[in-house]
Amino acid sequence: MIIKQFVLGQLENNVYLVMDESTKKAVLIDATALSPEITETIKKLHAKVEYILLTHGHFDHIMGLNALKKALNTEAVIHKDDLTISDNLNEYNRILGLPEADPPKYEIYIKDGDTIPVGNMNIKVIHTPGHTEGGVCYLIDDKLFSGDTLFRESVGRTDLFGGDFKKLSESIKNKLFKLPDNITVYPGHGPKTTIGHEKKYNELV
Ligand SMILES: [Zn+2]
Repeated sequence: MIIKQFVLGQLENNVYLVMDESTKKAVLIDATALSPEITETIKKLHAKVEYILLTHGHFDHIMGLNALKKALNTEAVIHKDDLTISDNLNEYNRILGLPEADPPKYEIYIKDGDTIPVGNMNIKVIHTPGHTEGGVCYLIDDKLFSGDTLFRESVGRTDLFGGDFKKLSESIKNKLFKLPDNITVYPGHGPKTTIGHEKKYNELV
């Protein structure tokens, strides 16, 4: 498995390209912006991006989705419970003084326990509500893409629409912390970590 990380946008979002080496089939995790860095990396690796997987519907993770879908000719995947947030993209844009945009459309809705096969990778969906209602993490072998659910020694904010700290804490404790300690965590913002490190040092859960 090859993982490429791109840091994009004002909020320094992590966008990940994850490719199965033998088949070249790949996914993009989150969709902050269509950057030349992404398209050049895809070209260089000869990657075939099958899906764009959204960890959740917050504007900073989806604002490049329309452009990325078009450029990569691929389908978008999200949990249905985050459609409201995604459809209200322009509420955030107005507050932040960003230009109006068309809310993205999604082709596939996923739920907890689903598996998405991409080449030799089996991508497991873990529904982790709390930061948003429809927030999910994606587990690929021993790598967890945690969106804004879990950060290195921190967690996602819960003061925005759909946020609920109790739910977030339960999602992390009951689902993510049940995973093996050696799992590497790739968050939506900031540096990577491991489940073992977070169980020991994350004081916010
Ligand atoms: Zn978020």
